[in-house]
Amino acid sequence: MKKDIKDLTLGELRAELRTLGEPAFRAKQVFAWLYQKGKSTFGEFSDLSRDFRASLEESFIIGRMDVIERIKSRDGVQKFLFGLREGYGIEAVLIPSGERRTVCLSTQAGCKYACGFCASGRGGFKRNLTPSEITGQILFLKDTMGENLTNFVFMGMGEPLDNYDNLEKAIRIMNAPEGMGIAARRITISTCGIVPGIERLAKLDIQVNLSLSLHAVTDRLRAKLMPVNRKYPLEELVQACEEYIKSGGRMMTLEYILIRGVNDTRHDAEGLAAIARKLRAKVNLIAYSPVAGLDFERPEEAAMKEFVCWLEERKVHVTERRSKGADIAAACGQLAGR
Ligand code: SF4
Repeated sequence: MKKDIKDLTLGELRAELRTLGEPAFRAKQVFAWLYQKGKSTFGEFSDLSRDFRASLEESFIIGRMDVIERIKSRDGVQKFLFGLREGYGIEAVLIPSGERRTVCLSTQAGCKYACGFCASGRGGFKRNLTPSEITGQILFLKDTMGENLTNFVFMGMGEPLDNYDNLEKAIRIMNAPEGMGIAARRITISTCGIVPGIERLAKLDIQVNLSLSLHAVTDRLRAKLMPVNRKYPLEELVQACEEYIKSGGRMMTLEYILIRGVNDTRHDAEGLAAIARKLRAKVNLIAYSPVAGLDFERPEEAAMKEFVCWLEERKVHVTERRSKGADIAAACGQLAGR
């Protein structure tokens, strides 16, 4: 079976081309056609010889992501449903805000982690996305939709660090100057708390941002909301995050979805502030967006404000993040790939 050329990092492509008898610099030329000029057939690579194009054609395919459905929200957010070859759907969300054009990317079809407030985990896990399928979401928005994307967050369907190898390859392709040329500081990986993945990310030579989906500050409540906490309890998780920030002075963000009557007390705010200060992390506070079939409720506006005050009193840098796209089920925790 032919390989998808977009599953290869620049280094891997160089090695593949060497076996075809081609010099290393050809890999850069191929990368430019794929990721900068956005061409999707080898025939369009016009500065390469006819013979070389023919041997590329014999060895590889060029993967692409096809959109099945595109829905636009009242607040400008757009959700794109991509179809995978087995018939599964995965989603990417485009979030405009001022000059920013942020894309929220998926890394898996479904999810194993079954967080209690999230639609993505409800249908179970289907499979990991390939590097080509991960970067393909960006390329569709850039090349087909003509979007000038500025920020890239891995917060869509799936747990990015549970698909670490493919995620790392996708990041390398995104970050390579010969590839998409995206600065590391514009890339954010969000995790539900996979400790071995955080440890690997700390050693990565590309300094992307890390965002921890915390959502509860006691093991009892967190294990109830996020079963992953049973495997990686808070103490171990916070320790892994401390190591992460020590490795090269990296910064972290804590995501906290405020759910009415569940994690919204002053005591919760105190616990959150203690963890945030320990990790010198900024907190993104997000009001829960309802998911059909789940009993959780959105907090009142006043409860959000009060929670923000409790954090600020404790000198925590907190941003009240508006989760956009709720009317099209594109907000945090609502992506289901249907
Ligand atoms: S919040 Fe993330 S890790 Fe948890 S079920 Fe949803 S997609 Fe999976």
